Amino acid sequence: MANFETPVLGKWPAVPKIKPGAMSHMAPHVAKPEIQEPLGYPGELVDNWERVAIDKLGELKGKYRALQVFMDACVACGACTDKCHYFLGSADPKNMPAARQDLMRSVYRRYYTLAGKWFPKLVGARDMTKEVLDEWYSYFFQCSQCRRCAVFCPFGIDTAEIGMAAREIMDTVGRGQKYANEVIGKVFKFGNNLGLAGRAIADTMESLEEDVEEETGLKIRFPVDEKGADVLMVVPSADFFAEPHIDGLVGYGKVFHQAGISWTFSTHASEGGNFGMFIGSYENMQRVSIRIREAALDLGVRRIVFGECGHAWRVAYSFLNTLAGPFDFLDPDYPVPQHICEVTYDLTKRGVLKFDKSKNDHMVVTFHDSCNPARASRMGDVPGGQFTIPREIMKATCNHVVEMSPDTIGDATFCCGAGGGILTDELMEARVKGAMPRMQALKNVVDTDGVTHMVSICAICKSQFSKVLPYFNFNAKMNLGVHQLVSNAIILENRN
Ligand code: SF4
Ligand code: SF4
Repeated sequence: MANFETPVLGKWPAVPKIKPGAMSHMAPHVAKPEIQEPLGYPGELVDNWERVAIDKLGELKGKYRALQVFMDACVACGACTDKCHYFLGSADPKNMPAARQDLMRSVYRRYYTLAGKWFPKLVGARDMTKEVLDEWYSYFFQCSQCRRCAVFCPFGIDTAEIGMAAREIMDTVGRGQKYANEVIGKVFKFGNNLGLAGRAIADTMESLEEDVEEETGLKIRFPVDEKGADVLMVVPSADFFAEPHIDGLVGYGKVFHQAGISWTFSTHASEGGNFGMFIGSYENMQRVSIRIREAALDLGVRRIVFGECGHAWRVAYSFLNTLAGPFDFLDPDYPVPQHICEVTYDLTKRGVLKFDKSKNDHMVVTFHDSCNPARASRMGDVPGGQFTIPREIMKATCNHVVEMSPDTIGDATFCCGAGGGILTDELMEARVKGAMPRMQALKNVVDTDGVTHMVSICAICKSQFSKVLPYFNFNAKMNLGVHQLVSNAIILENRN
């Protein structure tokens, strides 16, 4: 498979003996000018890039007060040391969250503190040099912005926010990541991360309707650009064709069919994902978000519902109203936006949806809490709804549901290893090593409870697991979405 060693799965995640520099060779491909420029960034390193970077850091710490606090507040207590999956899997000490933060903090101290200006060596302050930039480019792209470290930090220092600021600074000086920035460019050009043309989406949905009719005997619709529908469904574009994602998309269609809710996809906003967040760029995040507003207005819908995508939900839940609101043209009886799990859960509670759980009896399932819904958003109207609602749907649709160890789920969940712009082939070593703690927790329930499948509500988690499960001798097909369970078990009636 690859020329690195897959970590061995022990019983529990042990703190590894450190291996300095173990991951220093790891860095993503650099974006070319034709990728950078449409996003408003220089195509290559600008002449006086050191000064530009220092000024940008000054601008960001002034604009985002949390960043200033994060730079000043760390007391080096070590509580976050063993909380990052990339450190646990790689043993590289620069993957310890505080060490990752220090990559920026050392530069901040040099230029923005008195002690750092006068006694740089004494306070660990560093000049902004090419070597420092290269180190940033390597280790800030070995952070999936999952926020696990922040849960354990007594001051709530959020390495994800620091990493986003670092990436914004790097883009500003002309050193951008090819993967994330190319994806953002595709959204501007085609409406989605994958560069799928509108016609291709419509054709795929048409043939999906035929497949589902063959399976169910019912005409279940997957409408595209249908004006006057009640719901605009915004999904990660992987849901249109990738496995296992599309099986969850079939579940969305069955839910709307059974509930008698009219709905549609939009080819203008055929993407829920928003990589603008990964690069810390509110301007790009806003440009991506605005498409959803435009599509909702153009189609005349009354509600906006998001599919199973972790970071899409983080952006939607936390920022959509600020970036693209007000949504006062939508039905005030529904939250803006809504998650498909909220819709399905509510319909289930009200008895609108009924399930034959035996249809999932061939599976013993466990739930992987994806980091963005878990630690950066919510669902429903009670605290912790993002944890309980997907689980309630699983219990309603499946007889055999098992939990992984409590220190690996809920708000302590381990990231899949590929969020935040890491889902790219050249970072496979970091992806496999970063997946280790999740794989370890999974192995425990496979061994003790006979778990056969791991369920999630994130397109990136699903794509990552399909790739990394085989590295740990699991079957790639043991990975599925909540709405695939729904799709299997839902009792359907003819609504035509
Ligand atoms: S990957 Fe997660 S745990 Fe690791 S440093 Fe980044 S935010 Fe913290
Ligand atoms: S837990 Fe917080 S204060 Fe302690 S070392 Fe980590 S970042 Fe610093």
